[in-house]
Amino acid sequence: MLLLSDRDVAALLPMAACMETMADVLRTLASGGAALPLRTVMRLPNGPNAFAVMPAYLASPEAVGAKVITVFPGNDATPLDSHQGAVLLFDTAHGELRAILDASSITAIRTAAVSGVATRALARDDAHDLAILGAGVQAQTHLDAMMEARTIDRVRVWSRTPAKAAAFVARNAARHPALIEASADARTAVEGADIICTVTASRTPVLEGAWISPGAHVNAVGASLATARELDSAAVARASLFVDRRESAVNEAGDFLIPRNEGTIGDDHIRGELGQVLTGAITGRVRPDEITLFKSLGLAIEDLAAAYHIYVQAVHHGVGTRVELGGLRHAE
Ligand code: NDP
Repeated sequence: MLLLSDRDVAALLPMAACMETMADVLRTLASGGAALPLRTVMRLPNGPNAFAVMPAYLASPEAVGAKVITVFPGNDATPLDSHQGAVLLFDTAHGELRAILDASSITAIRTAAVSGVATRALARDDAHDLAILGAGVQAQTHLDAMMEARTIDRVRVWSRTPAKAAAFVARNAARHPALIEASADARTAVEGADIICTVTASRTPVLEGAWISPGAHVNAVGASLATARELDSAAVARASLFVDRRESAVNEAGDFLIPRNEGTIGDDHIRGELGQVLTGAITGRVRPDEITLFKSLGLAIEDLAAAYHIYVQAVHHGVGTRVELGGLRHAE
C-alpha cells in the first residue's frame, strides 16, 4: 500500500492534467459509468463542523474508494486546511487497498480543476476578466485553473478580511502575467467581470444577480449544504444553471434549493450536468449575452479519479511511502 502526502499530490497532479482527468470522469458519469451514492455528512455538535464519507465506483479507469474528511470552516484562522482527511483507493480485482492519499490537496486541486472544465465549456471564448470572491485555499487553486481555462489579463479578488485579499495579491502578483488587484467589496470585484468564482465559506449570499454582467460565467463552489448559499435568488434566476450532478444538486445545493423552495425558479431551471455538456448530450452556452452558472458540490468520483491518476504516476516515478498493512489470509 502506498502512502501519498500533500507534496506528492501537488507534484503528481498539476492543474492542466487534473482538468483533463476531471473532464474524462465527468464524461464517464454522464455515460453511466459511475456508481455514486449521496455523501454521508455527520454534523458535529455545537458548531459548523462536519465529518463526511464520500464513496464511489468508476468503470473506467476501474476503481473503487472513498474520501473521508472533516470540514472545519473555522480553520481559516489557523495554519490548518479546513478540509482534512484521506482518499482511499482500492483495486477492483481483489479489493486490495492500493493507496491512502492526502485529501486536503486533492480537494483543493480537483475542485478548481472541475471549475476550470466548466469555464472552458461554458464561458465565452473571449472571457478575460476574472473575479474571485474569497481568498482561501480554493481561491488560490481557482486562480490557477482559470488561468488554464482562458487567457486572463485582469483579476479582482475580494475577501471578508481585507488583509487576506491583500496577501493573495502579494502571493500571486509574480506567478501570473495578469494584473491582480484586491477589491474593497464584492460588488466592485464582480462588476464587468467575464468569469466569477465564489469560493467562500459563507452561508448567505455574497454575490447578487444585479451585479453580474450579461455574458458572464459563474462558478459557484463554496456552499455545499441545502441550507447554505453564496448567490442570491436573482443571480440563479438570471442564469442558465448547470450542475456537477443533478441528484446531488436537488438534495444538497442551497444555491438551487433555496430559490426553488421560494418559488423563484422551478425544478426545470437546471439545464443539465456538466458531463452532458462535455459529451454533447446537451447544449451549453447558446448566446454571448447569456449568463451561465456552474454549481459545484464536489463529487467522490472526482476524488477517486484524481487518486487513480496520482497513484499511477507515483508507481511510475517511484514516489510515496510503502506500508504493509497486511490483508493476507492467515493459515488456519
Ligand atoms: P478556506 O477556509 O481556505 O477559505 C474560506 C474563505 O471563505 C475565506 O476567504 C473566508 O474569508 C471566507 N469566508 C468565510 N466565512 C465567510 C462569510 N461569512 N462571508 C464571506 N466570506 C467568508 O476554505 P476553502 O477555500 O478550502 O473552501 C471555501 C469553500 O468552498 C468552503 O465553503 C468549502 O466547504 C467549499 N468547498 C467546496 C468544494 C466543492 O467541491 N464544491 C470542495 C472544497 C471546498 P476570510 O478572508 O475572512 O478568512
